[in-house]
Amino acid sequence: MKIYNFNPGPAMFPKKILLKIQKNFHNWNKSNCSILEISHRSKNFLEYAINTEKNFRELLNIPSEYHVLFAQGGARGQFSAIPLNLLKPHETSDYINSGFWSYAAFLEAKKFCHPKNINIKYINNSKLHTLLPMNKWKLNPDSQYVHYCPNETIEGISIFEEPNFSQKIVIGDFSSVILSRVINIKKYSLIYASAQKNIGPAGLTIIIIKKDLLKNITQNVPSILNYQILFKTNSMFNTPPIFSWYVAGLTFKWLKKKGGIAAIEKKNILKAKTLYKYIDSTEFYNNLVVPENRSLMNITFFLKNHTLTPIFLNNAEKNKLYGLKGHSAYGGIRASIYNAMSIKGIFSLIKFMKYFEKKFG
Ligand code: PMP
Repeated sequence: MKIYNFNPGPAMFPKKILLKIQKNFHNWNKSNCSILEISHRSKNFLEYAINTEKNFRELLNIPSEYHVLFAQGGARGQFSAIPLNLLKPHETSDYINSGFWSYAAFLEAKKFCHPKNINIKYINNSKLHTLLPMNKWKLNPDSQYVHYCPNETIEGISIFEEPNFSQKIVIGDFSSVILSRVINIKKYSLIYASAQKNIGPAGLTIIIIKKDLLKNITQNVPSILNYQILFKTNSMFNTPPIFSWYVAGLTFKWLKKKGGIAAIEKKNILKAKTLYKYIDSTEFYNNLVVPENRSLMNITFFLKNHTLTPIFLNNAEKNKLYGLKGHSAYGGIRASIYNAMSIKGIFSLIKFMKYFEKKFG
């Protein structure tokens, strides 16, 4: 029986990529060395890095007025890097609060500047979690930028609208949604994402940044987080996470072969719709998010009888369905279904959910 891994990140990988890594592990790119032994300064890797960026740009249709930087420190590193690079200590910025991760970004920014926490969450009349649409966001006229998170990985709540705030620098934490749907890069000044969901192994963080944002960065920003230094050193100010970078390159090639982002987006919509449709069809499970804000990547749900949750998780593992435990901050069940998850994985999960309902319902 095939294993399906619903972990939120590190997450399931396409089998083809795993096999390719295995096959080339001892002799990477005809170098006679393992990828773990390759210098980031070698001609072989530098060429690979250039090609990887090219493929990433192609996939997301990134215009030439943006740099792509390959950083370390995860998305949390960016929570600090963004205010440090873009704000002076007395300046303010808007942090849209849609859940755990966007609020975590706000809390970190508070250490370096005076961010404003703008809550857009509410519970509607049907007791469902809902987010205010963008035209209701109360942005401050004096804020230097607006930061938001289009996909809250923990709650499984998403913002699908694209921002249209003229005059504002818009920053998006795309950690759990990058490469899963088509986006218009031009609507943003800075997009960042840690790798461990749709890109590759943890360790790498990709930043897409408008070139003109680099102009005003001061020397006081810690070098390791400084966007200008990262750009000037071709993302190699310090030793980068070569293995993550290599695997990211494989993922981008895999995605291109699959038909690019538009093609994978169609599959992602189908997968999520199939699972939500089943959840909505039964009283035994319930999802607490309004349909228009339901994540396509992280599908959260609860068992009506909460005491059955540990039994559900235990039985799911026995049926080779891994990583379904909800985050401790939210509880319940969470099925993370990034690009690597197939529709067959969704059918297996639904089959198990039906069986479990029959047994305990
Ligand atoms: N933002 C979002 C939306 C996330 O899902 C996560 C991790 N799950 C983070 C930030 C933090 O990422 P990291 O562990 O790479 O710092």
